[in-house]
Amino acid sequence: MDRYAVIGNPIGHSKSPLIHGMFARQTGEQLSYQALLAPLDDFAGTLREFLHQGGRGVNVTVPFKEQAWALVDNHTPAAALAGAVNTIQRLDDGRLLGDNTDGRGLVRDIQHNAGLALAGKRILLIGAGGAARGVIQPLLQAHPAQLCVVNRTVEKAEQLAMLFKDQGPISAAGFEWIEESVDLIINATSASLDGQLPPISPSLIRPGHTWCYDMMYASEATVFNRWAAQQGAARCIDGLGMLVEQAAEAFLLWRGVRPDTTPVLAALR
Ligand code: NDP
Repeated sequence: MDRYAVIGNPIGHSKSPLIHGMFARQTGEQLSYQALLAPLDDFAGTLREFLHQGGRGVNVTVPFKEQAWALVDNHTPAAALAGAVNTIQRLDDGRLLGDNTDGRGLVRDIQHNAGLALAGKRILLIGAGGAARGVIQPLLQAHPAQLCVVNRTVEKAEQLAMLFKDQGPISAAGFEWIEESVDLIINATSASLDGQLPPISPSLIRPGHTWCYDMMYASEATVFNRWAAQQGAARCIDGLGMLVEQAAEAFLLWRGVRPDTTPVLAALR
């Protein structure tokens, strides 16, 4: 049986083994998938050991995505631009291919699952960390009218806007500079993890029109989505669909078949 794993620290909370187990049963693929805790100072050793035991592919999660990027032999175009790798495939000749499926997962969740076409939309992306960087190219490929990256440390937003300026209409701003409402707000900060809100103006939400997406997910609505609902956001979506869709993209890379995510997402909810 082909072996796969997700490596992170912490990893106990990971839903990836459950998701890939459901994908395997649904598609009839013979594989096992486990969660591996890597020491904070030895991601490389954990990866090496798993591959040595015959592992065919690995998902990488917090805080190792940048290290994975540096370790693989080749990058897909998505991973090259994202600067982070969340999916590793061991090729037949033993080389490691690194991909980043987070952005494709996000765009698929918004456009396909939620039904919001991104073409022509004005999008605000809050945050300029690894998660934000990983989703910018796929968002721009969906042809929004504008993608503005806003971040507490504005220099990091400006760096991302510079990096992706050839890919589409991207700009950068500090929180205090933006007030005009947009069509979609994506929260890619880690503020929700601490129960905090990024300091954005309520005027960015046009009641009944603006959609809000928090990349974080939890059993209850996140603090950002609760706030957005109070401002009258048309829809508030959490990142569980992104998680399932990025997993489906990894499964496709490894097995050549894309699972149907709808029943998996329904089972997780
Ligand atoms: P990073 O640590 O790389 O970046 C954190 C970002 O959040 C920075 O832009 C930081 O701003 C900002 N930030 C943190 N706290 C605050 C605050 N209180 N107010 C305003 N801004 C704040 O984290 P990642 O980019 O890796 O992850 C971000 C989120 O995305 C996490 O919640 C993670 O769980 C989620 N995620 C979800 C996925 C999914 O499949 N659903 C996939 C990947 C990530 P500054 O630069 O100023 O410090």
